[in-house]
Amino acid sequence: MHIADFRAKLNAWLDAHHAELAAPFAPPGTLDQRVAQMQRMKSVLFEADWMRYGWPEHVGGLGGSPMLRTELGAALAGRDLADPGLFSLIEVLAPTLIDFARPELAAEVVPRLLSGAEIWCQGFSEPGTGSDLSSLSCRAEPDGDPDTASTWRINGQKVWTSLAQYAERCVLLTRTGPADSRHRGITAFFVDMDTPGITVAPIEMINGMHEFAEVFFDDVVVPADRMLGELNGGWSVAMSILPYERSSCFWQRIAYLYRRLEMIVEVAPDDDRAAEVIGNAFLHLHMLRSRSRVTQHRLADGATLGAETSIDKVLVATGDHIVYDAARRLLPGIVEMDDSDAGEMWRTEYLYSRAATIYGGTAEVQRNIIARRLLDLGTDA
Ligand SMILES: Cc1cc2nc3c(=O)[nH]c(=O)nc-3n(C[C@H](O)[C@H](O)[C@H](O)COP(=O)(O)OP(=O)(O)OC[C@H]3O[C@@H](n4cnc5c(N)ncnc54)[C@H](O)[C@@H]3O)c2cc1C
Repeated sequence: MHIADFRAKLNAWLDAHHAELAAPFAPPGTLDQRVAQMQRMKSVLFEADWMRYGWPEHVGGLGGSPMLRTELGAALAGRDLADPGLFSLIEVLAPTLIDFARPELAAEVVPRLLSGAEIWCQGFSEPGTGSDLSSLSCRAEPDGDPDTASTWRINGQKVWTSLAQYAERCVLLTRTGPADSRHRGITAFFVDMDTPGITVAPIEMINGMHEFAEVFFDDVVVPADRMLGELNGGWSVAMSILPYERSSCFWQRIAYLYRRLEMIVEVAPDDDRAAEVIGNAFLHLHMLRSRSRVTQHRLADGATLGAETSIDKVLVATGDHIVYDAARRLLPGIVEMDDSDAGEMWRTEYLYSRAATIYGGTAEVQRNIIARRLLDLGTDA
């Protein structure tokens, strides 16, 4: 289906079904409420086929360009139906399964993720291993010869794992080579979170939500056929996430930021200062959306996305700060003192916006990449 036709049909359908999809609580709600709402909404959208457009037929999709699902994510975020932070995890993890899991496994589990029957998490970061992901140490050992073992045993720890306490499965990076093998000795597994030996300890964020967790692995046995990609090929799995994380996920986030800016405009004072703050925020979002549009089209045309997406990442994180700083400046006290539902929403989201320069690669690391790899301003030490 052509994107413009899809968008028109989708918007008409969302208009007609808004009451059925809308959250039964005032935003932000508790994390339990938000997660339940997301799964309920996914189920309704899957039943009506919208969650299936843009996904391959062999995993329960209806085919078509991945830009169709990008449209869906942006429409939901722009209507305040989906929290892009939670919803876009699908976009980060499902393509990984499609590209790297056994076809039968992908066919079994991807529809469960799309239809709201399951939540998955991403177990990459460890204490001391975030920006420098290739130094991770959570260990997987074969029960026997690595090439023929039917099971692997995992020991170690992950941290900052979003939604781990809700997740049925985890895309997990482990060390399978020597301790100093860096990116050449990493293997990815798809792990059931109810496997004995896994302990999840949620961590409270500055906004009071427990969105992420520490996850401990104590002799966790995983079947060898849950390996994603090749033995010691986990770095390719990790890197394959980048094109989706930096394109479709951002498109959802941008739609959400526009929506928030509109909300600020509705109640901001009518004066020169407000006009300047809003104008600057709008200009930034417009630039960001233009940049992201180019990235989407490059991906859809088959281009390999690389270091240049660090520019998109810096712009999105900056956009998050600019929009929520605008709310704080133009709606005095809304972030610090307002106990109404609106105050609760702005406070929670303002505090979360500070994380935008951390998750998915920190702003400092992105600027290093831009300086070294795009502008040729020196090499890694
Ligand atoms: C809301 C949120 C959700 C997250 N969800 C997940 C998840 O689901 N799964 C997951 O695996 N991880 C997740 N993360 C973790 C995230 O990927 C890491 O926090 C991030 O990669 C940074 O790693 P770190 O925390 O170890 O910080 P570090 O890498 O220790 O960085 C600390 C500081 O040093 C700076 N720094 C580091 N290296 C350099 C350098 N070479 N040059 C200049 N400055 C440098 C950084 O910019 C930062 O300011 C999440 C994080 C947040 C905030």
